[in-house]
Amino acid sequence: MIRTRCPICGVEVEAMLYRAHREASHPDYVQWGRRKVRLSIYVLFSWFALFVVDALFGRFLTPDFLFAGVVAYALGTLIVAMLVERRKIRELRSAWKETHPLFEKAT
Ligand SMILES: [Zn+2]
Repeated sequence: MIRTRCPICGVEVEAMLYRAHREASHPDYVQWGRRKVRLSIYVLFSWFALFVVDALFGRFLTPDFLFAGVVAYALGTLIVAMLVERRKIRELRSAWKETHPLFEKAT
C-alpha cells in the first residue's frame, strides 16, 4: 500500500484514504485546494493567451523578446504559486497544532 504523509498534521495515511482524511480533518485545506484549481485554470489560460500572442505577433518585435517575457512570466507564476502553497501549508499546520496540541510530533 502506498502511504502518504499529511502535510498539515504529519499523520501517515494510505494514499487512498488521504482524500477522506483531508476532508474530515482539514476542511480549510480542501477549500484552499478548490481555490487553487480555479486559480491554476486562470494562470494556464493566461499562459496560453500569451503564447498565442507571441506566436502571432512575436516575430514583428525584437526576436525572442516577447517569448523571453512569456517564459519569464510563466516561471514567475510557478514560483509564486509554490511560495504561496508553502506559506499556506505552514499556516494551516500551525493552526492545526494550536487546536490539536496532542498531535504534535517530535520530528
Ligand atoms: Zn492531516
